[in-house]
Amino acid sequence: MNEIIIATQNAGKAKEFVQMFLPLGIEVKTLLDYPHLPDVEETGTTFAENALLKAEFASKQTGRPAIADDSGLVIDALNGQPGVYSARYAGLEKNDQANNEKVLSEMKDVPEKLRSARFTCVLAVSFPDGRTPILVEGTCEGSIAFEKTGDHGFGYDPLFIPKGYQITMAQLKPEEKNAISHRANALKKLQAVLPELAGEQIL
Ligand code: IMP
Repeated sequence: MNEIIIATQNAGKAKEFVQMFLPLGIEVKTLLDYPHLPDVEETGTTFAENALLKAEFASKQTGRPAIADDSGLVIDALNGQPGVYSARYAGLEKNDQANNEKVLSEMKDVPEKLRSARFTCVLAVSFPDGRTPILVEGTCEGSIAFEKTGDHGFGYDPLFIPKGYQITMAQLKPEEKNAISHRANALKKLQAVLPELAGEQIL
């Protein structure tokens, strides 16, 4: 059976990938199966650079094709911030509470019509034989609320109102979020090219 490495330690993300690859007869391993591998520092300045860094490292280390993702929130009124620094916007790694408070404070004088934003997710697939990597991007358009609402999801979900909705991402059920999210949109794009790759025995 063909095998692909998902360069994540996040069980939730890994599950989404497993569901995508199973019907193609491709076995999925994650970094949890390679506990000796060190973390890669996300030194890139774009989502694509960071996704590629992680995918290339995992592929080189394991000798298998590897997929990695990088994602974040892009706010137009803040010139694209927090962007690639989404996880550490308030200075502390992965402190959702502090990150959300910083966004609300930076946006306190921004009127409703200028509060547009989008979640972005880039997926990179790297191959151990040096073949050109595959990059796909998914987005989810929306706007930034004036206060936090909802307790589903993670990260900036309580502040993000998806386009066409009156409630935040954190008020949606997980399956509703998964149907419209940036990650789901990127996965759909990847899914479109994978049967071709599997058929050519690239994976
Ligand atoms: P990573 O790609 O998992 O490192 O995510 C980077 C950061 O972007 C996370 O820590 C969150 O702050 C934010 N982020 C990414 N995806 C989402 C999402 O689906 N909802 C809310 N925040 C997200």
